[in-house]
Amino acid sequence: MAAALAFATPDDDTGEDVLAAVREVVQRDLVPIVGQIDRDGFYPEDAMRALGAAGAYGRHLPGYGAGEPDLTAAFRAIAAAGEYCLSTSFCMWCQDAFAWYVWASDNAALKARLGEKIATGAILGGTGLSNPMKTFFGIETMRLKGRRVEGGYLVKGALPWVSNLGPDHWFGGVFEREDGRPVMALVSCAGAGVKLVDGGTFVALDGTRTYGIQLRDAFIPDGDILADPAEAYVKRIRLGFVLMQVGMGLGLARGCIRLIREVEGSLGHVNRYLDVQAPDLAARADALEREVETLAIDPFDPDPALWRRVVAARLAASELAVDAAHNAMLHCGARGYVVTGEAQRRLREAYFVAIVTPAMKQLKKMLADMGPDPSGAPGLAA
Ligand SMILES: Cc1cc2nc3c(=O)[nH]c(=O)nc-3n(C[C@H](O)[C@H](O)[C@H](O)COP(=O)(O)OP(=O)(O)OC[C@H]3O[C@@H](n4cnc5c(N)ncnc54)[C@H](O)[C@@H]3O)c2cc1C
Repeated sequence: MAAALAFATPDDDTGEDVLAAVREVVQRDLVPIVGQIDRDGFYPEDAMRALGAAGAYGRHLPGYGAGEPDLTAAFRAIAAAGEYCLSTSFCMWCQDAFAWYVWASDNAALKARLGEKIATGAILGGTGLSNPMKTFFGIETMRLKGRRVEGGYLVKGALPWVSNLGPDHWFGGVFEREDGRPVMALVSCAGAGVKLVDGGTFVALDGTRTYGIQLRDAFIPDGDILADPAEAYVKRIRLGFVLMQVGMGLGLARGCIRLIREVEGSLGHVNRYLDVQAPDLAARADALEREVETLAIDPFDPDPALWRRVVAARLAASELAVDAAHNAMLHCGARGYVVTGEAQRRLREAYFVAIVTPAMKQLKKMLADMGPDPSGAPGLAA
């Protein structure tokens, strides 16, 4: 069980304080239940709320507390959980993105109403932006359609998967008006016309409370609108959205490096013949972490060259996660291959980093659409 929640205030805590508090919660509340999360699809709600109380979801938010938004703090917290459990790491990203949407919007009344509760994890929620992110990059068409009515919109349509949800949770989504204009809003899972349906069973990440969403003329009041029209706002939030995801891949890779090192004593005499060793993966992880720290300095900088590096870093995170998990499996051998083995769990989890939007294939398309890199930089590929 989580300890009593004493909320950290953003003014008191530095990113380092938050990271130390997050690591404590991870060891106390998360590490003992990672098997239960994986095998039983258990949603770690107590840990999610304790992480919020420790300040994990607050440091990156513009205007919440003193100082500049610190995206690196959010990224590091996501990675700290990802070292042990990607389900929780992803749920943290969902919460961070959900909070990011609210605090980056111009809707001051919405921020005043829900902002602090979201930043501290008292209100939990997620993000249904996979479909719009694919739509904006020419892969899908918009699944949610909205019609203007007195005081808001009536929205209909369905999304196949939205995570970190529950009957009293919220999520950020985008719908298209009849004139084609995209609008971004918060949707309450408890709202009339909003239905959560079974999203199926996954090979991993099943503890993320991932549901299918059906909206049947769900009323979205003007007070819950994040941006209308949404194009400029989505461009504003996309760097933070994508960069924080790198924390999932980095954390998972660090967990795999630990697994490789743990078996060095007993299996090092033969594992040393494998092509990829812990220092190789650690060097890639360190380079990726340094790159994210640089890219996170101004999350609202619209420079296209910066955006290209963010997309490349996100791709490198997918590649690193899959490579690290593959090699952890080879190093751990049979002890990783049993049902309770960590290496096989990390391998199943790693593919999620590579398929969650933006998936590797989308990232490669985005880079191809941008054309050759004018800087000629070598990038972070292995
Ligand atoms: C565990 C999990 C959690 C997720 N959480 C979120 C979330 O919180 N928010 C969010 O916006 N997205 C979420 N997604 C969706 C995810 O981001 C990707 O959109 C998804 O993995 C497919 O991406 P893709 O680019 O590979 O598309 P593709 O696999 O190329 O396919 C695109 C579309 O095909 C359809 N499709 C393919 N296979 C199936 C199937 N078996 N059943 C139903 N439809 C299918 C879906 O409509 C899908 O969107 C989640 C997915 C998973 C597996």
